[in-house]
Amino acid sequence: PLRIGVLALQGAFAEHIHALEALREAEGLGDIVEVRTSAGLAAVDALIIPGGESTSMALIAERRGLLDDLREFARTKPTWGTCAGLILLAARAVHTKQGGQRLLEVLPVTVSRNQFGRQVDSFTVTLDSPCLGPGAAPFEYVFIRAPAIISVDDPEVEPLVRLPAGVGQTEASERGLLVAVRYRNLLGTSFHPELTSDTRWHRYFVHMARAALA
Ligand code: GLN
Repeated sequence: PLRIGVLALQGAFAEHIHALEALREAEGLGDIVEVRTSAGLAAVDALIIPGGESTSMALIAERRGLLDDLREFARTKPTWGTCAGLILLAARAVHTKQGGQRLLEVLPVTVSRNQFGRQVDSFTVTLDSPCLGPGAAPFEYVFIRAPAIISVDDPEVEPLVRLPAGVGQTEASERGLLVAVRYRNLLGTSFHPELTSDTRWHRYFVHMARAALA
């Protein structure tokens, strides 16, 4: 059975574990593992990098000698980054802290950190999400100081969810900012599906991981 790990250095890892536990029986999942070390990473088939604070998460990973192993893992194995996790997967990030931050640079997109500014630090929006299946009910998306994908730098990157035009604060927002993409073995989402009781995005990742490993 599929062993999914959740990177548990910092941030909202417990909520992802909760969501996966809710699916465990229906999806026939194996152990759901908190990953904190290289050995822990080597023991899982797929990984979720949660939301939190991407600079801290990268620093902790670096101090534990885990950053290169995470990069190697994400190059080929099913990996899902949510929010701060999306920033870590990205090839480039703008509006990062002074001095920049370490990224895994495996997902060929540019993300803008804290895209939605201070006043609207957090918001939810309900959107149709055909990528969740034909006739899928709309999904309620939760954004918390979220990044957005402001450019896609490889034609193989598949856009999955776009915000309505005008939400966000850059020129790119006029066309509607991208908040979910798929690229080969990678899934990147700006929002926090683990903070709702709707597990459809977790199921999406489980199916994607299964297909990739088959
Ligand atoms: N703003 C955070 C960062 O840049 C991400 C926020 C989140 O993961 N909820 O790392």
